[in-house]
Amino acid sequence: MESVILRINGPVVFADGMGLAGLGEQVDVGDEKLAGEIIALEDDVATIQVYEDTIGVKPGEPVVARSEPLSVWLGPGIVRSIYDGIQRPLQKLFDYSGTFLERGLSTPGIDLDRTWAFTPTKTIGDTIVSLSILGDVPETDLIVHRVMVPSGMSGNLTWIAAAGEYTVTDVIAKVETAAGEREITMLQKWPIRRPRPIAKRLPPRVPVITGQRVIDFLFPAARGGACAIPGGFGTGKTVTQHQLAKWSDVDMIVYIGCGERGNEMTQVLEEFPVLKDPRSGKPIMERTALIANTSNMPVTAREASIYTGITMAEYYRDMGYHVAVMADSTSRWAEALREISGRLEQMPAEEGYPAYLASRIGDVYERAGRSMIEDSDGTTREGSVTIIGAVSPPGGDFSEPVVTHTKRFVRTFWGLDRDLASARHFPSIHWNTSYSEYDVSAWYAEHAELPWAELREKTKALLKEDEQLQNIVKLIGADALPDKQRITIETSRLIKEAFLQQAAFSEVDSYCPLEKQLAMIDIILSFHEQALKASAEGKPVHQLLSAEIVEEIHRMKEAIPADEMERFVELKRRVEAGF
Ligand code: ADP
Repeated sequence: MESVILRINGPVVFADGMGLAGLGEQVDVGDEKLAGEIIALEDDVATIQVYEDTIGVKPGEPVVARSEPLSVWLGPGIVRSIYDGIQRPLQKLFDYSGTFLERGLSTPGIDLDRTWAFTPTKTIGDTIVSLSILGDVPETDLIVHRVMVPSGMSGNLTWIAAAGEYTVTDVIAKVETAAGEREITMLQKWPIRRPRPIAKRLPPRVPVITGQRVIDFLFPAARGGACAIPGGFGTGKTVTQHQLAKWSDVDMIVYIGCGERGNEMTQVLEEFPVLKDPRSGKPIMERTALIANTSNMPVTAREASIYTGITMAEYYRDMGYHVAVMADSTSRWAEALREISGRLEQMPAEEGYPAYLASRIGDVYERAGRSMIEDSDGTTREGSVTIIGAVSPPGGDFSEPVVTHTKRFVRTFWGLDRDLASARHFPSIHWNTSYSEYDVSAWYAEHAELPWAELREKTKALLKEDEQLQNIVKLIGADALPDKQRITIETSRLIKEAFLQQAAFSEVDSYCPLEKQLAMIDIILSFHEQALKASAEGKPVHQLLSAEIVEEIHRMKEAIPADEMERFVELKRRVEAGF
């Protein structure tokens, strides 16, 4: 029976005669063959979400099922690309149709004509297992693409191409499997909603070092972890994400822009390609794939974009790379879920979001992970997908559904604070609302000279005490407090201003290596100890707090660059010498 459109409701289309199709199957909708996906099936009627504008599509037009789930193309060429939510290269689409996206253009996500320099790393006769690396392709200046055997395939290598230039559809290897000989190309497909399996999962115990003190020192992210950055408008989500993209010690970034307004996305499209990778001096795009949902795309593409991006990240993870996925913002993505759910006339739950909002958010963050893959020759490689989701709750309200559900699935929470932002305390990640539950202490104990865990505990305790004291100060003023507490307040002020504040646009301080971070906090905590000691010996507190060394501590982040660490040693010596 031919399948035809019955009814159209915005990006949602209902089609009859779909009995043979399956849930999640990709379909071509209407005469223009718009890309769609079956999201519900009842008897013979399929509910289809269409990833393109449905204006002009009429009931009675045909619907053709493609017998495969909505998938992404995986192969060299992903890095440096700018895609839409279903992996259509934006540049290509712009080329074809000017600034407005034409519909039904099935442009492949990977360039099929371009050739790549393939160098084999296996030889004929080798045993191969799932995800064995067959060879390398220099994909960009910063990423070497590892050409892998498709997930799940194993056998014997009966043929492999010599080093040379190949397109992604050229056969580069043949494998004798239990089910016969298989040809392998550099191009693979993977359904976006199915996580790529992790053969051996490693615990998320290695921090992602970001060079941002409030993150690395107080609330570290872990490789393979899930993090959220919630914050109202203007609190610094974009700047923080850019800082993370630039400085994090990961190999690759997948940036998923779910901006609602066109100009938000234009901003990303303009800003990202000019960002520089500070370590190599190359454009950051050399290790980035960008997914952009522009305003003239339907919400359905926004819904899919997160899965498209994560699937790409998992593929590079399997190659042995540490990948950070940044989704900005998941609130816009959740709004897409709400809108689609509304079109489906589903019963709304909290604030109009569908009842399955929490499980969808969970599905996304659960794809974060750190993995170890063993190749047939015994070599192992580690990779990870770290997911960092920005959340932009209306009015900066952290009690709304997207933030509260996100909290159930992430273990690092960087709460951006409006008051801090208006006081120009940046990053405005608040020490009271933020947390990180990843246990990275063993890594720090091994890699840092100073005792991170101990310094961190002391710092947190001081900030906590300060918070309580601030309430008293509001009532009776600081002068009425005992000396010990005044010293706590002053040390906390140093922690907040001299340590936690970090200007993204400062040449010296934009990135702060771990060694410098720990040296700085160590000095502040030494100051605390020395001030307590001096006050116990009867020195007047106001004199201690106005000492010149306090000013020096204030200035150290800017005044002492990371390559002059001996100056921190010297500063600490002077602090320890007392006042
Ligand atoms: P959002 O994306 O949450 O709306 P932005 O990231 O655009 O907010 O930040 C708003 C402004 O705050 C920026 O233009 C910048 O002036 C300031 N800002 C945010 N983070 C920092 C930072 N780490 N260092 C210096 N300024 C910052």
